Amino acid sequence: MPTLTNKVALITGGSRGIGAAIAQRLAANGADVAITYARDAQAAAAVVTAIESTGQRALAVQADAADTEAVAAAVNKTAATFGHIDVLVNNAGTAFPRLFEEATLEEMDRVIDINFHGVLVAAQAALKHMPDNGRIISIGSCLGERDMTPGMTAYAATKGAFRMFTQGLAREVGSRGITVNNVQPGPIDTDLNPAAAEWAAPQLANTALHRYGHVEEVASLVAFVASPEASYITGANLTVDGGTNA
Ligand code: NDP
Repeated sequence: MPTLTNKVALITGGSRGIGAAIAQRLAANGADVAITYARDAQAAAAVVTAIESTGQRALAVQADAADTEAVAAAVNKTAATFGHIDVLVNNAGTAFPRLFEEATLEEMDRVIDINFHGVLVAAQAALKHMPDNGRIISIGSCLGERDMTPGMTAYAATKGAFRMFTQGLAREVGSRGITVNNVQPGPIDTDLNPAAAEWAAPQLANTALHRYGHVEEVASLVAFVASPEASYITGANLTVDGGTNA
């Protein structure tokens, strides 16, 4: 039997890139899936169609991760539609690469609001609908523990915050069997970080495997952490970075 039969997963930022791969992988493992997105309704609809064609239920909700009310409403709509939320994947995130002294406070506030504030809101709202043995999985970054990339200081700080969020919350909800984990990708070929872009070269050079990762390689780790097989993994930072931080 698929590992997530009768489970419901909510993936923030699930319309493209890593989030879309996670949404489709969890659906392939038997989950009904809700995704949020910010701007691209067409891409979100395509993910919904792909999931429905496999026989699972799917829902897309427009909710900017920086908008507290919209995020809480998306969580509540997921629970109202599917009855509960077993797996929350905090994936929505962005970066504005710019040297710290050149970045504006507005830009850095936006990164903090999308990448981290949205996680607090989604997790707090989702826990109200999460049965025992649920899963909270955040998509951090290898930059959250070792930032070798000039221009990513504020971004790396938001991802570093995931580590303590994960550890702290894991202890608060562990008595319910809920696990909280932080998946830290390295360079993954997406619209946000294309393997063909100029700034890919230094990232590539830092990997042990001499290549960018694929979205499916992150999704497979998330699928494992979401499964009952991972029931004793919590408060952990799990890196999938091709050896970038090795
Ligand atoms: P993409 O830009 O390819 O996709 C981002 C997804 O998130 C889209 O579905 C987008 O929807 C959505 N999104 C963007 N901004 C918002 C927002 N404000 N509110 C809600 N949804 C939003 O990014 P990736 O797939 O590369 O990144 C996904 C996560 O993985 C991020 O948290 C990122 O930091 C992390 N990560 C990525 C790495 C990489 O190399 N790619 C490496 C390490 C971590 P829409 O199109 O509607 O805006």
